[in-house]
Amino acid sequence: MNPSNILPKNINSQSKSVLSSPHNIFIFEVLLPNVMTVKITWLGHACVQLEYEGKVIIVDPWIENPKFPGDDFKPKKIDLMLITHGHSDHFGNAIELAKEFNPQIPVIYEMSLYLESKGVENVSGFNFGGVYDFEGIKVALVPSSHSGGRNEDGTVLYLGSAAGYVIAFPDGNIFYHCGDSGVTAEMQVISELYAPNIGLLSAGGFYTMGSRGVAHTAKMMGLKYVVPIHWGTFPPLSDDAPNKIRAKLDGTGTEVIGLNPGDAHEFGPVDESQSYKSFYS
Ligand SMILES: [Zn+2]
Repeated sequence: MNPSNILPKNINSQSKSVLSSPHNIFIFEVLLPNVMTVKITWLGHACVQLEYEGKVIIVDPWIENPKFPGDDFKPKKIDLMLITHGHSDHFGNAIELAKEFNPQIPVIYEMSLYLESKGVENVSGFNFGGVYDFEGIKVALVPSSHSGGRNEDGTVLYLGSAAGYVIAFPDGNIFYHCGDSGVTAEMQVISELYAPNIGLLSAGGFYTMGSRGVAHTAKMMGLKYVVPIHWGTFPPLSDDAPNKIRAKLDGTGTEVIGLNPGDAHEFGPVDESQSYKSFYS
């Protein structure tokens, strides 16, 4: 059971009134601990779904990837769609999913023009340094050391610079999805500005960082958790990235959360949410 499916969206504003009834106190106490968590589901390759208080975010919506875990995992709603760059293994099924679910889509400016040219609505073109506010969830566009062209019938279209995202939730969890970035000193600045505690890091090598680069990034950024993505999809990507990274981070205090496509993990609230508050200042 997914608590986010049975809770009213404005549970916080309703919590005072439900406390006045003994019957509702029981409901409040049972359900509230599950409200303020972020659930991540890895859908294969760089495609990640994040759920928070009934809102569904999908990053790099390639749901036809070879490791997509099956029809049960096809999106039933999408509120916010993020696309790191124009390569087909990240841009993926963005257009058809956008037309089916009508999510908000904050992406780099040139990609926003492309999406709008295809009839996609609710697109916001922004750029590095900007922060997009989605109902209290803060989304920062950050640089990625990568390329971002799109192959359309043999013609390469420029869809803007490749990007990553920092996604900050009101419960204090701050995710960094690096797109396809190689290791770059800019990650240090991203860490200083946005203080992510969880890295969704492309780890398969060849097109992105490998395990050595991911371990270096985790240490450089002071990440508490690393979720390796973009591995095991097809050759020549590494098929054992989590264990390789774990061996390199042994004793550092960074936890490697090794998921298989279809696996989910929930991150509980972070004390004080200090980093989240910094997005307002
Ligand atoms: Zn790429």
